[in-house]
Amino acid sequence: MLGLMQDRPLLISNLLEFAERHHGDGQIVSRRVEGDIHRYTWADCARRARQVANAVEAEGLLFSDRVATLAWNGYRHLELYYGVSGSGRVLHTINPRLHPDQIAWIANHAEDQVLCFDLSFLPLVQAVHARCPTVKKWVALCDADRLPADSGIPGLVSYESWIGGQPDTYDWPSFDENSASSMCYTSGTTGNPKAALYSHRSTILHAYAACLPDVMCLSARDSVLPVVPMFHVNAWGIPYSAALVGAKLVFPGPALDGKSVYELIEAEGVTFAAGVPTVWQMLLGHMQAQGLKFGKLNRTVIGGSACPPAMINAFREQYGVDVLHAWGMTEMSPLGTLCTLKNKHLSLPAQEQLALRMKQGRAIFGVDMKIVGDDGQELPWDGKTYGDLLVKGPWIVKEYFKGEGGNPLQAGNWFPTGDVATIDADGFMQITDRSKDVIKSGGEWISSIDIENIAVAHPAVAMAACIGVFHPKWDERPIVVVAKKAGAEVTREELLKFYEGKTAKWQIPDDVVFVEAIPLGATGKILKTRIRELLKDYRLPGL
Ligand code: ADP
Repeated sequence: MLGLMQDRPLLISNLLEFAERHHGDGQIVSRRVEGDIHRYTWADCARRARQVANAVEAEGLLFSDRVATLAWNGYRHLELYYGVSGSGRVLHTINPRLHPDQIAWIANHAEDQVLCFDLSFLPLVQAVHARCPTVKKWVALCDADRLPADSGIPGLVSYESWIGGQPDTYDWPSFDENSASSMCYTSGTTGNPKAALYSHRSTILHAYAACLPDVMCLSARDSVLPVVPMFHVNAWGIPYSAALVGAKLVFPGPALDGKSVYELIEAEGVTFAAGVPTVWQMLLGHMQAQGLKFGKLNRTVIGGSACPPAMINAFREQYGVDVLHAWGMTEMSPLGTLCTLKNKHLSLPAQEQLALRMKQGRAIFGVDMKIVGDDGQELPWDGKTYGDLLVKGPWIVKEYFKGEGGNPLQAGNWFPTGDVATIDADGFMQITDRSKDVIKSGGEWISSIDIENIAVAHPAVAMAACIGVFHPKWDERPIVVVAKKAGAEVTREELLKFYEGKTAKWQIPDDVVFVEAIPLGATGKILKTRIRELLKDYRLPGL
């Protein structure tokens, strides 16, 4: 016997209709590419998203056709999120930090029909447009009077004229909630990029989950700043979750430096912000240098790569901001785990609480996880045994767009994350490493994350990356590549001494290599492949 409840599909357009009806005067504030601040409301956003849907219809796009963006976080991008997906087309957010060849490859692979871009990316579009034959319309996200005269891009229109003539009435269509809504290519550190193709259903379920108290704890009282880009896994789903609860949204546009982000947080009463560690590094650096404090910011989600304990501490102790360490990936929409304590942990001494907060956290309902050994057998949740981390759930990919790379799932529909982790008896997962970054020294494993965390706790170190290098006896030994803070000094010997007592002796790196800057990838993560390339002729001292 089936239940007798209404079978209403979960659709992205429902979120916007809800936000308009119940939080119509809720604010959306954006720093624009032009540099000024733009303000409007959820009702305005809904009205313009309907114009977007009409513009997409007018282009003759069919159900599931792709509309691409190369854009910063801002209100026009938000309108595309809702207008494109809501009308049944697929929003393809492209990461503008990728190499132009990769961007052209991705646009062709996705068969994008319309591509909307911020003017900051005009040179990029000029470089790739001739190689994107499927794109029949190029739209610059600007006012008509800002459209560059001689762009060299045939038929280029401004966004405002593209949607301007369209009616602001539109009946959002109803369709199967499993229909594709948006897509995001993984950074592709190995091989060609592969696309996760999200559905309306997966997006809504993820949006619900993200708002839970032990996840982002979002509400109508929050002012939310996603520093994490809308071109990277839908800004961790915040544009959807904010509509679901009617939160104020604050978009940083292209200005991601510490000063600009700090000013926006203060001016807009931001209570909650989300981003990768490298962005927060810049913010903290600015605040420390200027002796600044936060007004209302009380919590921040940090993920994408391991958040150093020194950062968790600085936020908590100097600024009274709770750091919620999160883990996920493009293939998981992206949220998998988030670190919040259980009731029984609240009475633990500060040091023990910090040890827990450093972990990537507990699974969100909807995400099942387990760790397995080389033989595929499940390993115990004892907080010590490490193994390959597998996940499954309704917002995790079952295969990639166009079947790229074959079936990624293992027996029982488990998706292998490529991460190595421990899980403790309370279900707190901790990433030891990415399986390809773990250092194998004499049959023992050394976590590159642990080695990096110690280095960045040194006051003179701005950023650190640990890689394994060849050793004839031990196979691999760790070295740490370090970028110093401006004006700060530390020698190789001082830094190696700093490791003493903080980790087992045999895990202390064999050498320190100082560099001007650590290379970062398209999503702000340390690019270890590039570091390995740069150091390909490096030999350990004494070998
Ligand atoms: P890509 O794989 O394309 O670089 P993703 O954003 O999908 O981009 O990256 C997912 C990976 O990032 C995870 O598999 C994991 O290795 C790493 N990661 C994400 N969050 C954390 C975290 N909090 N701590 C450590 N690693 C993390």
